[in-house]
Amino acid sequence: MMTKDDIVKLLSIKSKDEHEALIEKAGSLRNETLGNRVYFRGLIEYSNICAKNCYYCGIRSGNSKQERYTMTDDEVLDCARFAYNTKYGSIVIQAGERSDKAFVDKIEFLLKEIKKLSDGNLGITLSLGEQSDETFKRWFEAGAHRYLIRIETSDPKLYKKYHPDDKFHSYDERLESLNRLRNHGYQVGTGVMIGLPGQTVEDLANDLLFIKKLDVDMVGMGPYIENENTPLYDRRGELIPSKDRFELSLRMIAVLRLLMPDINTAATTAMQTLDPLGREKAIRAGANIIMPNLTPVKYRENYLLYEGKPCLDEDAAKCAGCITGRIRSTGAEVGFGEWGDSKHFKRRTEGK
Ligand code: SAM
Ligand code: SF4
Repeated sequence: MMTKDDIVKLLSIKSKDEHEALIEKAGSLRNETLGNRVYFRGLIEYSNICAKNCYYCGIRSGNSKQERYTMTDDEVLDCARFAYNTKYGSIVIQAGERSDKAFVDKIEFLLKEIKKLSDGNLGITLSLGEQSDETFKRWFEAGAHRYLIRIETSDPKLYKKYHPDDKFHSYDERLESLNRLRNHGYQVGTGVMIGLPGQTVEDLANDLLFIKKLDVDMVGMGPYIENENTPLYDRRGELIPSKDRFELSLRMIAVLRLLMPDINTAATTAMQTLDPLGREKAIRAGANIIMPNLTPVKYRENYLLYEGKPCLDEDAAKCAGCITGRIRSTGAEVGFGEWGDSKHFKRRTEGK
């Protein structure tokens, strides 16, 4: 078992050769444990309306410069149909956090329609923030079977620095939501942002140990990227250079794979934002999930969590072709038409 000191040492690697050796080791372990398949989760950025006000996020409610949108039912169902017909296997529905009745009902309706149009064959992950037990239950029964809530940072003191100090942004509540998800049968995912101002490699080592202890099935983590219309932008002077933040994120993905060999880990869009080959590099470092963007192009520039988000003008069809070639370039294959569920989940629930 790796100790915190071991992890800090790996995250702090400076030599190029040692960095490459770590990436290689994690990539090989992924292949040995899960095979060389990478699975798609077609990303639908459903709405940028958010009731919360996280200090780092471009779609926070306090950003009055942000134009707001919600996709129509037909647009969502068209995206899902495209994913199904193109054999993506699964989709992710992501949005700002809302828990009002209209929103909860609408998501339930869309889940049922997506299941119908795909004869139950399209897997569905949700990334819609903290919700009540009743909502988690309704959405599970309507067809969602994976849910991702990033803890953002596992340190409650740091959490307070990146969020307003009020009951809507409570670390304990977020953790509580994560724990409760499991009781409803979901495959559960979490993650953190890497390279936040004031965050140290020790904090990141703690994050990895926290994720391991939580025994999650999936992880989505990536670099923090600044956005000038957010309060955290004021602390940009404290950030490490984006190249270092990217390399550190790769080492985080690699060490996580060593700690949890059979979980699903995403090569996130934020990785591609800091390096044009970011997702390919993340796959080489042990990631096995990729999220091609399905959001209609007209909305993409309004789902700007951070600066420099790529592929703002590339429609879903173009994206599919591009991404498949990119994955093959890493020596991995795409698991077309498969859910690619977390092996960890199967082991945890069925003892497999
Ligand atoms: N609203 C839901 C929630 O917060 O769980 C889901 C959507 S939210 C936009 C998804 C993730 O975006 C957050 O968990 C956060 O980690 C990430 N994010 C937001 N702002 C970011 C930034 N400036 N840099 C990197 N990631 C960011
Ligand atoms: Fe809203 Fe999620 Fe952004 Fe926080 S991170 S402001 S909850 S969309």
